[in-house]
Amino acid sequence: MSRSYWNTGTDYAQPDTAQLKRNVKQTLNKERTNGRVMQPVSIQGRKIVSSWWGQAWCDNLEKYADYESRLERGKRYVRTGAVVDLKIQKGKVLARVQGRRKTPYKIEIRISPLSEERCQYAIAACEEKIENLERLMKGDFPEELKEVFLGENGLFPAPKEIGFTCSCPDWALMCKHVAAVLYGIGARFDENPLLFFELRGIDVERFVDVALASHVDKMLEHADVHSDRVIEEENWMELFGIGLL
Ligand SMILES: [Zn+2]
Repeated sequence: MSRSYWNTGTDYAQPDTAQLKRNVKQTLNKERTNGRVMQPVSIQGRKIVSSWWGQAWCDNLEKYADYESRLERGKRYVRTGAVVDLKIQKGKVLARVQGRRKTPYKIEIRISPLSEERCQYAIAACEEKIENLERLMKGDFPEELKEVFLGENGLFPAPKEIGFTCSCPDWALMCKHVAAVLYGIGARFDENPLLFFELRGIDVERFVDVALASHVDKMLEHADVHSDRVIEEENWMELFGIGLL
């Protein structure tokens, strides 16, 4: 029998918040006993994210997704603490989300690696103002780099660059568990914007290395005019603990 596209049929009554919280507690206790390291997403207060880049991630999500009801439920889930585990790795996110069943659902989100062209675009933007790199390394995404993040060739994945699977029986293209994980990713970015690079398959140290080297190349090209600044840049290199080539 073919499945209806619009009527998912398996969209059960929603578990209430108290039940969801009870299940979350049980799961976390059980996993702790089993010695499994869980990295739950914990949201303090009403706002899921507080940084501009975390907010941009969530706004982007809402712009792309046509499944508003799933997004709303996803928000409720992430706020309730239902994302009991979320690990960002190179090019993918592995997560577990608690639902009405005792065993949490398994979610995998895959993001295409950033193309060389877009890498070069990001490097060019970052090397222009080298102090931005230092701020980035400290966990602050400077607003000056907004374009790197949001621009057409930026770090944001386009919908066709995102793939996801969930072990739940909801046949909607984006179930509430996937939506909860996507919001959870926003919360993680809030804490550490460098995870953005990780998610796009970029090694941050290498990225910074290339951006600094490329910056120094340009400085040396104009060394006769700006010799003082070159020395200044060497100090920046020392700050990063990276030696000159
Ligand atoms: Zn699901």
